[in-house]
Amino acid sequence: AGSIDWARVRADFPLLHRAVHDRPLVYFDNANTSQKPAAVIEAMDGYYRRYNANVSRAVHQLGSEATEAYEDVRRRLARFLNVRADELVLCSGTTFAINLVAYSWALPRLGPGDAILVSRMEHHANIVPWQLVAERTGATVRVAEIRPDGTLDLDALHAAMTPEVKLLAVAHVSNLLGTVNPVRAICREAARRGIVTVVDGSQAVPHRRVDIAALGCDFYAFTGHKMCGPTGTGALWARREHLEAMPPFIGGGEMIREVSFEGTVFNDPPHKFEAGTPNIAGFVGLGAAVDYLAALGMDAVEAREGELLAHLTEALGDIDGLRILGSAPDKAAVVAFLVDGAHAHDLATLLDLEGIAIRSGQHCAHPLLQFYGVAATCRASLAFYNTHDEIDAFAAALRKVRGLLG
Ligand code: PMP
Repeated sequence: AGSIDWARVRADFPLLHRAVHDRPLVYFDNANTSQKPAAVIEAMDGYYRRYNANVSRAVHQLGSEATEAYEDVRRRLARFLNVRADELVLCSGTTFAINLVAYSWALPRLGPGDAILVSRMEHHANIVPWQLVAERTGATVRVAEIRPDGTLDLDALHAAMTPEVKLLAVAHVSNLLGTVNPVRAICREAARRGIVTVVDGSQAVPHRRVDIAALGCDFYAFTGHKMCGPTGTGALWARREHLEAMPPFIGGGEMIREVSFEGTVFNDPPHKFEAGTPNIAGFVGLGAAVDYLAALGMDAVEAREGELLAHLTEALGDIDGLRILGSAPDKAAVVAFLVDGAHAHDLATLLDLEGIAIRSGQHCAHPLLQFYGVAATCRASLAFYNTHDEIDAFAAALRKVRGLLG
């Protein structure tokens, strides 16, 4: 990390140079979506200017360039995450990826008496699809509890892995607390009991080196827009045997080999799950994002964000009446906090006037907020392109607006 000039890295992100309410923007809402380097924006622009065509089997030159670019992104993503390219289903993001598992894997397999185990700290995208499956199959959704420090209670989790449990859905990194879950150990325990594992990697892939093969999970979902890529991109990684056994979720063009009114022969996975025209420009951009992150090196990204998190935690620790939720020893650069006597939305609104973007509210994690007995929190989430000066400016602004709120 020492050899990277982070000021130059920051200069790669055009949006970070703008002002908000006549103040320099401080963008601390990276867990929501990341900003994009010029290389990503230019890659998408280049696609539309030079080789815009569908990725169908058109024989013309533009069609083959677009198809090659799209399939090359799949290969680069696969290399980045240490998986096979033909096990990577490209889709619109984590939400779609998890729903694909829910509808294609879980729905045909689960029934009354079965259970789906999810953790207390899941994003709604890793809760609601399982509730929908449970409703339709008669299975139940069981909750693995956390401890007050925001870590999973592993003893409780293992105890909850009873024979009824067929599937375990867990976040790699919590979007609100930043907790990094010991996913490898959890998946090992689950596999020993024959439980299929779904890992929500939305907040992990952008912030640390993820070797999906080493995790030992069955499914891994992630989203492109949090990893410097465009919105509407993401992927589901799944073991080949699952992809082969699963029926398609969405039907249409591109996912078939032959269609007749007597019956349809599906294409091989992953194409079997990619009906219709995909977000080609978006994936071209995601390919540039992967190249960008790989060039920085995810270990360097993690180290940089670790330094920023330490600074942020210390700066917030000096503010009276401020409480941080969660203090996991292994934590990504996400800080959920509350300030006595100040509503989260009021704080975020006043901070916006200072040019500072943080999130306030429930963060698509209602069950987690219920655990802490709070209605809403603020959340500051960092990326490698944030700076120590921004953290100081944030802490100063927080003191100021807190004073205004009495
Ligand atoms: N899971 C987690 C942990 C997330 O942080 C998010 C995004 N906030 C999602 C799932 C959903 O991702 P998307 O909206 O890109 O589908």
